[in-house]
Amino acid sequence: MVERTEGEAQALSVTLEEPYQCKLCGERFARSVTQCTSCGSTSIRDVVATGGEYDVVSEDAVRHLKRKIEFCWNEKKAGNNYIKHKFVKKLVKVVNLSTTEIHEQLRCGTCNRFYASYNGRAATPEEMEKARAGKIESVRTQV
Ligand SMILES: [Zn+2]
Ligand SMILES: [Zn+2]
Repeated sequence: MVERTEGEAQALSVTLEEPYQCKLCGERFARSVTQCTSCGSTSIRDVVATGGEYDVVSEDAVRHLKRKIEFCWNEKKAGNNYIKHKFVKKLVKVVNLSTTEIHEQLRCGTCNRFYASYNGRAATPEEMEKARAGKIESVRTQV
């Protein structure tokens, strides 16, 4: 760990580009996510709201958790067995008509299960138009 002065620590906390962190494996995210894409944990911390310092996680300790997603988390129960399918990464642009924001959603290409939201920004007037015309996927919920 690098020693930091008080002033530098404060400067760091206000310029966090990835203000969310998985409590389990330490993975960092630019946007709020419901589930860690590295380890599958649903314990995600808002770093800014909880002191502005990242948890320091040893790579050795979490290596076994951070497997690449190989199988989709959306397993279907069939009798006593769970049927798995391969995770196929798919990125879908989704406009939120309520907030006029656009995100890229990471989804399973096979079953469309939602995994994470990236690159949120204000939608352009053209994107809003396309979303209203049904040419871009849209939602109406407040996030
Ligand atoms: Zn994680
Ligand atoms: Zn799936």
